[in-house]
Amino acid sequence: KVSKEKCDEIANLRVAIRIRPMNSSELATTGVEDVVRIKNNELIICAPKNGHGVLTDHIFQYDHIFWSVDEKDTLYTSQEDVFLTIGVPLLNSAFRGFNACLFAYGQTGSGKSYRITPRFCRELFKRVSEIDKDCVVNVEVSYFEIYNEKIHDLLANPSHNSAKVPLKVREHPVLGPYIVDLTTHSVTSYEELRSFLLLGNKNRATAATVMNDFSSRSHSIFCIELGQCKGLDDTDNSRRSKVSLVDLAGSERLSSSFNNEERMKQALSDQRKGQFVPYRDSVLTWLLRESLGGNSLTSMLATISPASTHLDETLATLRYACQAR
Ligand code: ADP
Repeated sequence: KVSKEKCDEIANLRVAIRIRPMNSSELATTGVEDVVRIKNNELIICAPKNGHGVLTDHIFQYDHIFWSVDEKDTLYTSQEDVFLTIGVPLLNSAFRGFNACLFAYGQTGSGKSYRITPRFCRELFKRVSEIDKDCVVNVEVSYFEIYNEKIHDLLANPSHNSAKVPLKVREHPVLGPYIVDLTTHSVTSYEELRSFLLLGNKNRATAATVMNDFSSRSHSIFCIELGQCKGLDDTDNSRRSKVSLVDLAGSERLSSSFNNEERMKQALSDQRKGQFVPYRDSVLTWLLRESLGGNSLTSMLATISPASTHLDETLATLRYACQAR
């Protein structure tokens, strides 16, 4: 008996699954099985031989399935392959002046932050350096997290008030939703950008040690705003776009972060079907409104472990990724 879950094709939303190799603690645990198979572009989650309560195989279909378990395997995909498939189209979109959004989703420790952001940002600056000299390029970054519907700036000076109090979202009549007092930082090189990314990560880690449910409940958003301006007349020849790299709350403890995830999923799905999206139901969907519709390109990278011990989380992640389409 097999349960088959197929996603519909939708042009500007791509969903990819990345399977990480077993880690040392999974390998060291007796009775742990590798439950993931890939066959004919389908992802199969096999019922573990020793039970675990799930009796059927589950088959899923996505735009891309990235296998990274065995380097000798013909299906093996390197980080470079992942970047070429997922990152490059988003960069292309941004340089054409359209917003782009990358969601990383999965259980904590499944590989969400595994090297995609640095590669993406390095390539961004490589492209900036290749742009015509008569074009002025401006890159600005901001980094914030949403925890319990409250926004915290991850790059604010700790002595400033904006680092201590939650920030508010307001609606600009032309530019749409924005965060009041969020700090933005102009960067001219990958190294500079990286220092802000590291600072934000450090601030996020500090918060995580204070609240033990943090990583499973907080979303973080690293925003890169790209301005390209040719000549003096900056109306006809200027382009502005925003790339949002979103780390969605870990998929564990679904009950606690469920509402937010449900709304995100609903928003993505309604958007694609051309239905009304109640963006303002959650801070995350409200803020990303301008990045989810129209000409924007959105990708979701869902990450899973191949170990039978994480079967429930894995199935939850795979279903979430499937429904997002
Ligand atoms: P998360 O951000 O989901 O909590 P990480 O991205 O930090 O997880 O990954 C957890 C660990 O697994 C890291 O040590 C990382 O190097 C390793 N890892 C994740 N994905 C892969 C992969 N595809 N190939 C090899 N190692 C990986």
